[in-house]
Amino acid sequence: MSPARIKHILGVEQTAVELARLNGIDAKKASTAALLHDLMRDLNQKDTLAAVEQLGMYLDDYTAENLKVAHGPLAALFARQKLGIDDEDILNAVSCHTVANKKMSTLCKIIYLADAIEPSRDYKDAEQLRELAKKDLDAAYKAALEKTCLYIKSKGESPHPDTLEAINQTRKDDGI
Ligand code: FE
Ligand code: FE
Repeated sequence: MSPARIKHILGVEQTAVELARLNGIDAKKASTAALLHDLMRDLNQKDTLAAVEQLGMYLDDYTAENLKVAHGPLAALFARQKLGIDDEDILNAVSCHTVANKKMSTLCKIIYLADAIEPSRDYKDAEQLRELAKKDLDAAYKAALEKTCLYIKSKGESPHPDTLEAINQTRKDDGI
């Protein structure tokens, strides 16, 4: 892993632990999920495919076309099979940190959000999102999702179907 990746992971851990404390979630679980989340992020295409095969990951069409997003589910499978981690909430949070889904637990939202707002993230609005996260986890999670979606679309690509379902779910939760 590159020094920048390690810095990012430690930043996600710090942010996730803070958000866990603010939301009454086990900080140790948040720490473990954060430390694991990008374990497979730096694999190249060939090694990602080898890991998919070895760990028995199901590849949906979108993920097969956009292999980078496989690193969440792969890290969760690795943690379960090779590191003996069996806490489903931790494994889910690791698995869905990149594309999200419509059934995000509080820990899943914390890891998703911490990934987007950890201290070394410096895009426009990052600070605003950090402030919102301290006050309202759900609102900040929703804002992060919408932001990611806009970013993907701005590149002329489309989000993973699970990401679209996640957004629809937040809109339903808001009664829109
Ligand atoms: Fe990631
Ligand atoms: Fe990350």
